[in-house]
Amino acid sequence: MIIKTFVLTPFQQNTRVIACEETKRAVCIDPGEPSAELSNYVRDNDLVLQAIILTHGHLDHIGGTRALAAACPDAEILLHADEMYLYEKLQQQPLIMGLSPEQARSMGMEYDPAPNPTRFLNDGEIYEVGNLRFLVRHVPGHTLGHIVLAEQNEKAVFTGDCLFSGSIGRTDLPGGDYAQLIGSIREKVLTLGDDFTVYCGHGPETTIGRERLTNPFLTGVYQPAGGRAV
Ligand SMILES: [Zn+2]
Ligand SMILES: [Zn+2]
Repeated sequence: MIIKTFVLTPFQQNTRVIACEETKRAVCIDPGEPSAELSNYVRDNDLVLQAIILTHGHLDHIGGTRALAAACPDAEILLHADEMYLYEKLQQQPLIMGLSPEQARSMGMEYDPAPNPTRFLNDGEIYEVGNLRFLVRHVPGHTLGHIVLAEQNEKAVFTGDCLFSGSIGRTDLPGGDYAQLIGSIREKVLTLGDDFTVYCGHGPETTIGRERLTNPFLTGVYQPAGGRAV
């Protein structure tokens, strides 16, 4: 498995291309903004981009979908159906997040509508990319239709804004629910196994074992009344 990370957007989002070494088939998880570096990487390494997979619909994870789909027109566009409430509102998201139109413009956050998804991913589904097999798990809490993708032979999980190194996703935006997020992490992520490497939507990689033992939101050290902004 080849993993290439591009840190994009003012939110320092980890856009990743994951490829099967043997077949050169690849997916991009969460293209945050239009990036020539990203599309050139796919082209220059002779990768066949078969899908753009979105862990969730926040602007810093989907803002580059239209540009990457234009560069790779055969790629599917996949997300969970419950995430359409955000995906369809890409153009309004800066305002929902409290940015004025001027601020949004200065941060490069002006968008055309996101392109239509090809189909929706479901909890428990296996998505194959060459010899890689990604298990899809629905993990609501940061947003309604958030998913994580786990490659069980490689022991890698891509967690978007569900779980971070030492932290968790914010739950104060529309669709967020703190108790639901903690439940999703416990039931759908920690159960993968301590030896999984966690590739987060923001910040450094970690392991499930390290988070289970030290993440203050999971050990019970931190007990917020209403969630925490990340
Ligand atoms: Zn998010
Ligand atoms: Zn994010």
